[in-house]
Amino acid sequence: MSDQRVYNFAAGPSALPLSVLERAGSEITNYRGSGMSVMEMSHRSKAFMDIFQETQDKLRRLMNIPDNYRVLFLQTGASGQFSMVPLNLIGKTGKADYAVTGNFSSLAYKEAKKYGQISLAADTGDRNHCYIPRQDGLKLDPDASYFYYCANNTIYGTEWDYVPETGEVPLVCDMSSDILSMPVDVSRYGIIYAGAQKNMAPAGLTVVIIREDLAGRELPNTPLMMNYQTMIDKDSMYNTPPCWCIYMLGLVLDWVEENSGLAGMKKLRDLRSGMLYDTLEGSRIFRLHAEKGSRSGMNVTFRTESDELDAKFVQEAAAAGFVSLKGHRKVGGMRASIYNAMPVEGVEKLCEFIRAFERAN
Ligand SMILES: *Cc1c(COP(=O)(O)O)cnc(C)c1O
Repeated sequence: MSDQRVYNFAAGPSALPLSVLERAGSEITNYRGSGMSVMEMSHRSKAFMDIFQETQDKLRRLMNIPDNYRVLFLQTGASGQFSMVPLNLIGKTGKADYAVTGNFSSLAYKEAKKYGQISLAADTGDRNHCYIPRQDGLKLDPDASYFYYCANNTIYGTEWDYVPETGEVPLVCDMSSDILSMPVDVSRYGIIYAGAQKNMAPAGLTVVIIREDLAGRELPNTPLMMNYQTMIDKDSMYNTPPCWCIYMLGLVLDWVEENSGLAGMKKLRDLRSGMLYDTLEGSRIFRLHAEKGSRSGMNVTFRTESDELDAKFVQEAAAAGFVSLKGHRKVGGMRASIYNAMPVEGVEKLCEFIRAFERAN
């Protein structure tokens, strides 16, 4: 089976490490002598509680999460956080700052406007989100309840290369598409969250890392399942958590640990993206969407001068075993998502394919 696998450049759900899939496969009908699959277990069973606790501990260790932060395993996707963040945090002053640098921060901004007075700290829509604002371009309100941004813009292929400085105003960051790809200083954030299906686990799990003191100030009509404090009090087990995804996250975290942790992930990330950007920059027929200095280490967006040639590229690449390279319709062209699980060799071969395509066209 495994030698028939393709190089999967999908933006999410996306590739998982082969060894993780094989381990999950080997345990799928009988998890370590329990006589059942993790999918069939009570979430209150000893076996699952161990998985749950170990997975939390592994994430804490890998990301070096300080003691005054809680790790939550929630559902409703990263998009659920677009509502959950303002519902729980806006009550402090009724105001918040949002940096809109792409599709998902734009959606979060629109959602937050239902709950308070939301200011645009930056908006890169003037040039189809091909760049990241610099610190001195951010319009900051010292009275904001929080500052919101998206670390990596999955669709446009841009990524913040710095952590915004906002004084006492807590940072809320959507890290869905670059979490675990490099070390981050968690203590600089109020909330970090991520949908799991890009760099962590299968779809269905949302990881939230929250500074404890930020919870407990939710608006009165906050739905039960959208209340951080409830989830903190019940350790994410108010109801049935996404058990299988949590188990898979545990396996992925083992794999990250075996591969030198987040420093190791950063090295691989730089190798993959460096190679691909060099190849595309040196090309005569391809051009990059994201500006230099704002380019993502995870999602590389590029195109030719013609839609027909783009389509031909995507089609011929798929036939050669490089799949899901079609770009999002908001950018057009191509997008290569090169998350943690993409082997360096996959990017090497894609670069060879790009050069060969250029020679032939
Ligand atoms: C994919 C993605 C989302 C949406 O995630 P869902 O889990 O589908 O809601 C939000 N933000 C970013 C940065 C993403 O990449």
